[in-house]
Amino acid sequence: PQLANQIAAGEVVERPASVVKELVENSLDAGANNIRIDIENGGATLIRIRDNGLGIAKDELALALARHATSKITSIDDLEAILSFGFRGEALASISSVSRLTLTSRTAEQNEAWQVFVQGRDQEHTIRPASHPVGTSVEVANLFFNTPARRKFLRTDKTEFAHIDEVIRRIALAKPHIVLTLTHNGKIIRQYKSAVNDQQKLKRVAAICGDDFVQHALQIDWKHDDLHLSGWVATPQSTRAQNDLNYCYINGRMVKDKVINHAIRQAYAEHLGAEQYPAFVLFLDLNPNDVDVNVHPTKHEVRFHQARLIHDFVCQGIANALLSAEQ
Ligand code: ADP
Ligand code: MG
Repeated sequence: PQLANQIAAGEVVERPASVVKELVENSLDAGANNIRIDIENGGATLIRIRDNGLGIAKDELALALARHATSKITSIDDLEAILSFGFRGEALASISSVSRLTLTSRTAEQNEAWQVFVQGRDQEHTIRPASHPVGTSVEVANLFFNTPARRKFLRTDKTEFAHIDEVIRRIALAKPHIVLTLTHNGKIIRQYKSAVNDQQKLKRVAAICGDDFVQHALQIDWKHDDLHLSGWVATPQSTRAQNDLNYCYINGRMVKDKVINHAIRQAYAEHLGAEQYPAFVLFLDLNPNDVDVNVHPTKHEVRFHQARLIHDFVCQGIANALLSAEQ
């Protein structure tokens, strides 16, 4: 099973940023609203995520590290309507097979916290008492210490940290109410405060995407049946178009989707006759039964059951915003 874990690790654990993504998503799944991410040396020596979520009970700690052990789906039918981020039960098993992992957690029912430590191939772990508030900390030390081939692919600390920063940026956009703190080598690099009302949310978007984007963006709020498209697209007039600023979320999950990208391009082409590809931050919410998210292990891709319908809905929503901006 250890080899299987290391092979699976290749799929989900490409670099420190992928570890951060999986761990922060676990924190979100656990209902945390305050997550701190501490990074040392671009994540190569240490990644520590601390949350104030529900925690893991003492007798489930070891299980959490086992492959295909997930508490999030109980039957195959659940795969049809996945709302939580994780569902494969692979992340902790994979990460612990290529690092030295310490999991510390306390539930509200327990008076004390418990901790397990696993080290790469040697999957023996002991549970010991620890000190921790309600919630969970995961410490990943010496990533890829036992897989030198993969370690060689790590870039400079600066580059690896930039990838981590981007992961946190994406999550910060999707979950405006969550407090996120990101440190590197002991220094606070990002601190996203909780945003609840529209004004606070816009401020947070500005902190993430820049004032320039927010000042030039058209707000989208477009509904039809149980489809809802919201967010911002850059106006055609915006001079400093940040073409790489393309954030698209489906039911809160960041994706790169061809159908949606095409719809955006078409709306711009039809209304401006231009080969413009604007900056955008868009959230599409739809019935989870109408989309498959279980297409790829890293879960960047989705499959719509009615792609044409989604395409036209998104295209119309953006075209509508462009039209009203002209008036
Ligand atoms: P998955 O997220 O797909 O279920 P993971 O390997 O990421 O699989 O996590 C395994 C299990 O460990 C989860 O199902 C959850 O029960 C538990 N877990 C992991 N991280 C946390 C956390 N931060 N807070 C609470 N429970 C957690
Ligand atoms: Mg997970």
